[in-house]
Amino acid sequence: MSTTTPASTPVVPGDLSWVPLREELRGASPYGAPQLDVPVQLNVNENPYGPSPAVVEDVAASVARAATTLNRYPDREFVELRAGLAAYLCAEAGVEVGPAQVWAANGSNEVMLQLLQAFGGPGRTAISFAPTYSMYPEYARDAMTGWVAGRRHDDFSFDLAEAERLIAEHRPSVVLLPSPNNPTGTALPHDVIGTLCELVGDTGVVVIDEAYAEFRRAGTPSALELLPAHRNLVVTRTMSKAFALAGARLGYLAAAPELCDALRVVRLPYHLSAVTQATALAALRHADELLGRVEELRAERDRTVTWLREQGLEVAESDANFVLFGRFADRQDVWQQLLDAGVLIRVTGPEGWLRVSVGTPAEMQAFRSALTAALDTTTEGGGR
Ligand SMILES: *Cc1c(COP(=O)(O)O)cnc(C)c1O
Repeated sequence: MSTTTPASTPVVPGDLSWVPLREELRGASPYGAPQLDVPVQLNVNENPYGPSPAVVEDVAASVARAATTLNRYPDREFVELRAGLAAYLCAEAGVEVGPAQVWAANGSNEVMLQLLQAFGGPGRTAISFAPTYSMYPEYARDAMTGWVAGRRHDDFSFDLAEAERLIAEHRPSVVLLPSPNNPTGTALPHDVIGTLCELVGDTGVVVIDEAYAEFRRAGTPSALELLPAHRNLVVTRTMSKAFALAGARLGYLAAAPELCDALRVVRLPYHLSAVTQATALAALRHADELLGRVEELRAERDRTVTWLREQGLEVAESDANFVLFGRFADRQDVWQQLLDAGVLIRVTGPEGWLRVSVGTPAEMQAFRSALTAALDTTTEGGGR
């Protein structure tokens, strides 16, 4: 039995039968991993290290300054923030990105919904390749866009022949691909991204979702490097993962200035609050510190991959801050055993696999102990 209590009030599925809901939303449940108040939370790929007192102080002072003008709407074009994000991308990926090539919203989830609103729509199709981020079909549905999901190879590498076939068949106006991929951790090779941009051509955009880019292994390039060569390429990023700022809700993208201008047509006016802009700008001033634990997290990830393989498990190669491992005859049972031991991981990906986010060394020790115990009981029961 679980000894845990929900940290937030669970959504009670009420009787919606009288609600005048769009047909395609009938029976749908709200997206989200369980938010449970357990000691070791390794289920939504957050950075486990909170901000230092210096960062907290700068964010608080910046928000206090913004508070003095909260009677006014914020800068609708968030000029200062766009410049700050562009400078960050130049430094991080070593590429030339200007403020006119940057767009931002409340999390990259909102960025991607805006992309679907602008470039999808009725009669159009968005496409991705499974296993992939489970929010993509929801953006398509919400933007009334057709949805097609192709497959990756069994080892989760990209199947370019399948992509070529599906793009020729469906002529998608949006291709959505995370790199590194969630939930597998697999990064896309450059030649694949370039080929996809050419296959899609000017009738669509190729969105490379680099939510985990800062965790990529040395030698894995960023899709940002391909922007000069492909005007239909969009690279999305977020401050939620490596940047340790999930609570602030700030996602962004780099693309041709014309694509950014197109998004200004569909965005809600003043969608980025003055508080959000002030917080993100303060965080950017402390980028080095906030990203300071990325190296440690990468090393901890690689240790986790090695350890899981030593336990005889299958493990996907990871360029991200999480690891997908399996396979289990009853993954729900393994997940529950870990939860009962106070370790929350994620049931996601293909049947039989589980995903663990990389936490602090102490959290990973708790994970290893809990999984060792679970493996012992499932082996005794002949479960695996
Ligand atoms: C976590 C994640 C995001 C980030 O979402 P935010 O809205 O920026 O917090 C985007 N894409 C993928 C694949 C993710 O896993």
